[in-house]
Amino acid sequence: MTVARLILATDLDGTFLGGTDEQRRALYRDLQARDDLLLIFVTGRDRDFIARLLDSGEMPRPRYVIGDVGTSVFDGTALEPIAALEAPIAERWRGANARVRALLADEPGLRLQPTAFRYRVSYDCDPRLLSADLIPKVEAAGFDGLLSADRFFDVLPRGISKGSTLRRLVAALDLDASRVLVAGDTMNDLSLFQTGFNGVAVGNSEPRLVDAVRAMPNVFNSRLPGAAGIADAIRHFQPAAQGPDSLARPPVLSF
Ligand SMILES: [Mg+2]
Repeated sequence: MTVARLILATDLDGTFLGGTDEQRRALYRDLQARDDLLLIFVTGRDRDFIARLLDSGEMPRPRYVIGDVGTSVFDGTALEPIAALEAPIAERWRGANARVRALLADEPGLRLQPTAFRYRVSYDCDPRLLSADLIPKVEAAGFDGLLSADRFFDVLPRGISKGSTLRRLVAALDLDASRVLVAGDTMNDLSLFQTGFNGVAVGNSEPRLVDAVRAMPNVFNSRLPGAAGIADAIRHFQPAAQGPDSLARPPVLSF
């Protein structure tokens, strides 16, 4: 069992990278000062973006990275894929890139992203133009379709998401689930909250996500944006200080 007292599994754009420069710096400084942190990035971005980001040296380095909307897993040092964790993803995808591109070649409102991803096909999209049949068509072909931030449409291996891959990582590392805090801001983060781990929807979250997590007792809605929302959530889930209020809210997490 790893002794991490805070396992922060955070989205990047709009979340860990969101908020003002000052809010980001404050969060990164606080996290860097902790010796009980296990940091995991969970992002829609690919390895090249993450490598450039880490080279900037402005933030704490994650121990693990779940990339490509949950379809890749890297160690945080060399950013090498972790084969054991990617195997079930590759197995479900079955090299479907060309098949998916052909399936959706004539769909309105989709523009193929130029990068060749390994286990997904992703589009920039105009949601106003999308066919109502798009997601059923993708699902009928054996995949999941995910519309996020009103800008992105991802075709993913069936059942694979940021949340499902994080669950497998947490299990593989034998981590204490009660120490996990997930953070996100768009619909591709919904699966993180559906894991049941404690989580924060940061203040700049897209309205569809805010609606979707409203009834989830494990999710804290911060009013603060991005990095400041994460810091807010770490305080929120901290056990109440000793005093008359300490029994009012049983501590779920003890960071
Ligand atoms: Mg985001």
